[in-house]
Amino acid sequence: MIHFSQINKHYGQFHVLRDIDLHIKPGEVVVIIGPSGSGKSTLLRCINRLETVTSGELIVNGTKVNDKSTDINKLRRDIGMVFQHFNLYPHMTVLDNITLAPTKVGGLSKEQASEIAMKYLTKVGIPDKAKSFPSQLSGGQQQRVAIARGLAMKPKIMLFDEPTSALDPEMVGEVLDVMKSLAKEGMTMVCVTHEMGFAREVADRIVFMDQGQILEENTPAEFFDNPREERARQFLSRLN
Ligand code: ADP
Ligand code: MG
Repeated sequence: MIHFSQINKHYGQFHVLRDIDLHIKPGEVVVIIGPSGSGKSTLLRCINRLETVTSGELIVNGTKVNDKSTDINKLRRDIGMVFQHFNLYPHMTVLDNITLAPTKVGGLSKEQASEIAMKYLTKVGIPDKAKSFPSQLSGGQQQRVAIARGLAMKPKIMLFDEPTSALDPEMVGEVLDVMKSLAKEGMTMVCVTHEMGFAREVADRIVFMDQGQILEENTPAEFFDNPREERARQFLSRLN
């Protein structure tokens, strides 16, 4: 589903991604962890071409992401993304936030889009908030709306960039639970998170990054109990 082959990226002189090789199968849940500044967000953002790469080949859902001929909007329709800050439109209701893309980009009628929106709002546990504005919701509820918005386009891949980092601790669980249920249903997911409990329980594979490189790829059990790389050991010991 996602193939990074020898991907390099620079920001000006700064070499942010170094020789990235990463292959993700349909239905796989990959959790990317690593120190701040190691390039996790950049790697994620290359997948839907929010960032362009300097060299190498990146193929997502059969499409060469960085080809000039690639229809970037078509590529992005298959990829939902959830950010640390929920990025909801504050002047629009929850329902309108979710139906915006399906009507404007997906070509659905307002009625069709609303039906789908309600389905996903129910899935994330807050159908009663459809008519609310984002400011009337808790952080956890807003993030669940953001996930419902991503799902409403029926993506093949969901990207999560620290989706719980901006939440009060008591709201982290409700967002992770939604992500867990998505994982169980077979969604292809790439998640950057510091929630090690989630990573251990839900990930098929852990990818550890440091200084723009993938230093270790491992099963959660192996990675957390017996990491191969010294820098991974150090990283994990600092978390405890
Ligand atoms: P992470 O998500 O692991 O914290 P990022 O991918 O956000 O790391 O950033 C990796 C490095 O690239 C950091 O040193 C950051 O300062 C730098 N960086 C990120 N975005 C830009 C940008 N748009 N221009 C220049 N440098 C950037
Ligand atoms: Mg980041």
